[in-house]
Amino acid sequence: VPDYIGFANLPNQVHRKAVKKGFEFTVVVVGESGLGKSTLIDSLFQTNLYADRNIPNAKARIKKTVEIRKQTVDIEEKGVRLRLSVVDTPGFGDALNNDKCWDNIVKFIDEQYEKYLSDESGLNRRNITDQRVHCCLYFISPTGNGLKPLDIEFMKRLDTRVNIVPVIAKSDTLTAHEIKTLKRKILDDIRTHSIDVYTFPETDSDEDEEFKRENNQLKSSVPFAVVGSNKFYDIRGKKVRGRQYPWGIVEVENLEHCDFAKLRSMLIRTHMQDLKEVTHEVLYEQYRANRLRSGDS
Ligand code: GDP
Ligand code: MG
Repeated sequence: VPDYIGFANLPNQVHRKAVKKGFEFTVVVVGESGLGKSTLIDSLFQTNLYADRNIPNAKARIKKTVEIRKQTVDIEEKGVRLRLSVVDTPGFGDALNNDKCWDNIVKFIDEQYEKYLSDESGLNRRNITDQRVHCCLYFISPTGNGLKPLDIEFMKRLDTRVNIVPVIAKSDTLTAHEIKTLKRKILDDIRTHSIDVYTFPETDSDEDEEFKRENNQLKSSVPFAVVGSNKFYDIRGKKVRGRQYPWGIVEVENLEHCDFAKLRSMLIRTHMQDLKEVTHEVLYEQYRANRLRSGDS
């Protein structure tokens, strides 16, 4: 596990100007209530991100999420500034009216586009703070047999607005074989229902071998089978995040145990810039074109 995050290392990932100015990246987590969204946010963004910060009391952190909540941290690495925001949403499935919860998430995403659109036509358009949502981690239940009708409906509403990266929640509750089967079923469902999830960039022959290898490896891991935890255990003399079972400890960051480290690596290192580009060039353009067509901008 590297002791730095790595976003400053990617060649060509950010232009010189962006390096000076810093850049913004926003992730939203969505899915049924109780699937471990809040826990994963903590695991993703406090392991390394907060490595040398004061980590707030773990007990105080996870409460039932009742509203859309955005947390932002500023990180600097080798002179590159990153403003990372994570948006936690209340899960659906336990509310009287699921529609309301969906609407709020969709509305939140659209509001960020709307804000960007108005900033772009403003006087200060060279210095826009990009608050658009660049990625949506969509949590899928480990107990189901693929996507549920609610998932399909919701993903269809989201896929025109945001890069969806599907994840299998609480994968420590499944065997390796069950994970493999569920992954295949989810990919089938995504295809059958024409859900437009994030597609990894095509790599061409003259690209960096290392990037090609990593890109393909990440691509073949989708949907990422993740595990989150707020508990630490001593393993081989190191404090690691994990979940304890009678037969042993599932380590969150161990690639042999789950895809957590791959997901984090993709988000904050290898594919951050591509997620931002797709958001700007495809999804935002689409939003903008629709707005202009509707004529009331
Ligand atoms: P949310 O409603 O989706 O935000 O879910 P929470 O993060 O609040 O977690 C709900 C419950 O699931 C808590 O008791 C967590 O400790 C537990 N949990 C979270 N992540 C995992 C995981 O990866 N595996 C297992 N087995 N339990 C988890
Ligand atoms: Mg929550």
